This record gives sequence, structure tokens and C-alpha cells, in this order.
Amino acid sequence: MSVRYELDIHTHTIASGHGSTATITDMAKAAAARNIKMLGISDHGPRTFGGGRASYFRSLANAQKERLGVRMLYGAEANIVDRKGRLDLPDEVLSRLDFVIASMHRPILKPGSKEENTETYLRVMANPYVTVIGHCSDTHFPADPFRLFFEARKRHILLEINNSSLSPEGYRGDTRFADLVILNLSAHFHYPVLFSSDSHGTAHIGDFAYAEELAGRAQIPEGLILNRSAEGFLEFLRKDK
Ligand SMILES: [Zn+2]
Ligand SMILES: [Zn+2]
Repeated sequence: MSVRYELDIHTHTIASGHGSTATITDMAKAAAARNIKMLGISDHGPRTFGGGRASYFRSLANAQKERLGVRMLYGAEANIVDRKGRLDLPDEVLSRLDFVIASMHRPILKPGSKEENTETYLRVMANPYVTVIGHCSDTHFPADPFRLFFEARKRHILLEINNSSLSPEGYRGDTRFADLVILNLSAHFHYPVLFSSDSHGTAHIGDFAYAEELAGRAQIPEGLILNRSAEGFLEFLRKDK
């Protein structure tokens, strides 16, 4: 990696119910070994089979803010459960988290038309607790990246460039077109983007290789990539919507 990235906030532990048996401490250890300064834990919400229950997310408010020298943020990857844009965690839980990623997953949400998916995302963005829209370039849930970008900018929400979607082993189809549109709009309108590893377990924490390559093609200024600065990301979170 030519650029040093300080944070990764889309990662999954054993509490997500699949893909990993790593504990939060295992994750922090791996992050520290990779020089990641700030790690966000974002386990799947309750509608994912075996995902975290509301009580798990509620208790994260008491979890250690620093582990092994890594600044910890505790969030969730909440499921978008219907076309009204509702999530699978109540506001009372969402409001205590450091950040909230909202994502469409099968089979929890049946993919709709491009128009339907876009409208649903726009409704999700009206939720004041949502910080990031997860993997919105998923080809199984086609959406209009232009409309998503302008709404995200208006609502002070980030669209992530999900590295696992871009991986050749990814299972969200070819997401490059929509991701490139988002990166180009970010560069043009000078609005930040967020890379995420979506690492299930420790293996891919801080791995943004594919996202970085695509961002290079969009010639996005490095300063717009929020992963560059833990302080910059915290500042983004502090800004009122
Ligand atoms: Zn997801
Ligand atoms: Zn995820």
C-alpha cells in the first residue's frame, strides 16, 4: 500500500453469525499488527441468520474504547428490512452506537427494480442515525449512483467503496461501474468517500487494494478518502446532520 490508511470501520466478528469466529479482541490485535489506528466493529443486525441481537448492540456502549492501542468504534451493519427503509434495530439502540451502516442483503430484502431500490435507499438516508450506506453498488440491488450520491451529500452520509465487492472472489457482481461513478462524483463535488474491507474475521482488516486502485482511476484527491485520518473521520461523525 502506498498510502497509509488509519481506519477501517466495516468489519465483522463472531457476533455476525457467519464467516468468522474472531472476537473483538482478535480483531483489535489484527488491526494493531497492521498499523490500523482506529477499528470499527459492525456486526450484522438481528435479521441476519445468527446475527447480533439488540442486547448485544446495546451493551457495546460499555465496551472498551481502546484495545491494544487501537481506538475502537462500535457500530452495526443494520439490515434494511422493507421498502419503507426501516432497519432491524430500533432507534434507541442505533442512537447509542458510534456509527451505523445500513445495507441491503438477500434474502432479508427482495431485490426490486432500480427505481425501487433507489427510492428505498433515499428513505433509509432520512434516518438520522445512519452514517454509511453499505455496498450500494451491489448489482443484485441495482440503484442509481447519481441519486444516491446527491442524497448522501445532502444528508451528510457516506457511500462506502466496499473492497470485498470489488474482489474477484466477490459475490455482488461487477460493482466497478457504480463505484466509479461514486468516486468521480466525490472527486468532482469534493465530498468524502469511505473505503471498507467488510472483513469477516481478521483476514482482510485494512485491506483496500481494489478500492484504492479504482480510486486512482477516478483521480480522487487522497484528502477525500476518509480512511486517511482517524481524526478526520471523527470530525465527520461529529458534524450535525
Ligand atoms: Zn453487508
Ligand atoms: Zn458487512
